[in-house]
Amino acid sequence: MSEIITETMVDTMVDTMVEAVSDVVSGAVIAAPGLASGGVQGLDYSPEVATRTADLYGRVAAVIPEFEWPVMAPYIDAINRLKAERNAVILAHNYMTPEIYHCVADRVGDSLALARMATETDADIIIVAGVHFMAETAKILNPEKTVLVPDQLAGCSLASSITGADVRRLRAQYPGVPVVSYVNTTADVKAESDYCITSGNAVELVNSLGVDRVICLPDKYLAQYIASQTDVEIIIGEGACEVHERFTAQEIADYRTGHDGLVVIAHPECPPDVLGAADFVGSTAKMSDFVKTRHPEKVLMVTECSMSDNVALENPETEFVRPCNLCPHMKRITLEKILNSLTSGTHEIILETELMDRARLAVERMLAVSG
Ligand code: SF4
Repeated sequence: MSEIITETMVDTMVDTMVEAVSDVVSGAVIAAPGLASGGVQGLDYSPEVATRTADLYGRVAAVIPEFEWPVMAPYIDAINRLKAERNAVILAHNYMTPEIYHCVADRVGDSLALARMATETDADIIIVAGVHFMAETAKILNPEKTVLVPDQLAGCSLASSITGADVRRLRAQYPGVPVVSYVNTTADVKAESDYCITSGNAVELVNSLGVDRVICLPDKYLAQYIASQTDVEIIIGEGACEVHERFTAQEIADYRTGHDGLVVIAHPECPPDVLGAADFVGSTAKMSDFVKTRHPEKVLMVTECSMSDNVALENPETEFVRPCNLCPHMKRITLEKILNSLTSGTHEIILETELMDRARLAVERMLAVSG
């Protein structure tokens, strides 16, 4: 299973790199054909661009080599100018690479935070620098706004593991049992669910329902973690995050052997033995807060590796030990694709009104429970 997943990830990464290289070869990196009509005058690294982006480079200099900046800076400069002109906001997930997270994002956070931010913006256009289900969630909460995802193939192994028809079958099998779905699901699944959850509020929400049993979909590891934290019986789904399920308890033990005093913090999408080997288990936001508030001397974040990069930049006093499991779907989002979204309006999220209305109920219940 893990070999298949690894091959899939490698294929996707190779595709993305081939796209990037072909763009450079075709001149897109320096000339960006087709962008001039959208108001971009050219994408060369002029002295003016260097000056305007100097402060931004200061934010990421610890993780982005100086020789890469002349390629990134013109995109960053153009994106920041265009989003102001078009009253667009960029909401970026914690797993975005540092040049996106620290240099073009207006707001950053995990799935729950992005959903909340989507309800708070006055912008006409919301660009979600994250995967497709996150952009769908933003659209569900903002049906009147234009919501764009820079790459419509940016999927998620959890979201693709279950359909609305699967949820209907489970409801028939367990009549009257509430369906609680992870926010990492399609709009179709949300529309069939009673509640959405995130890893940050799942236990709180399940406990608040006052029932003996719930169906918890689709992440089997998150559901097992919830079951370990509550007396409510959990009927567990079969999906998994292809990034977090690859971590092993042996890997954690090996890192501890090589690093005295290492503090290990893990995301609940990891397998149970990995969570058992960790010192702290929490959502993306809680992991980030842990480092900010407890200031561990040396930490291992058992999660997607760009997240470690981004938290490391914000906590220079902490030493980060970094296993690198990349999410190939998140890595489909690049500066070039964000700029294309701004200039050409791709790729707009379009959902049926009736579907959004049903899905919104579950999402709003999630937002209500998380305060
Ligand atoms: S890290 Fe896992 S849960 Fe998150 S988008 Fe990637 S595959 Fe989905």
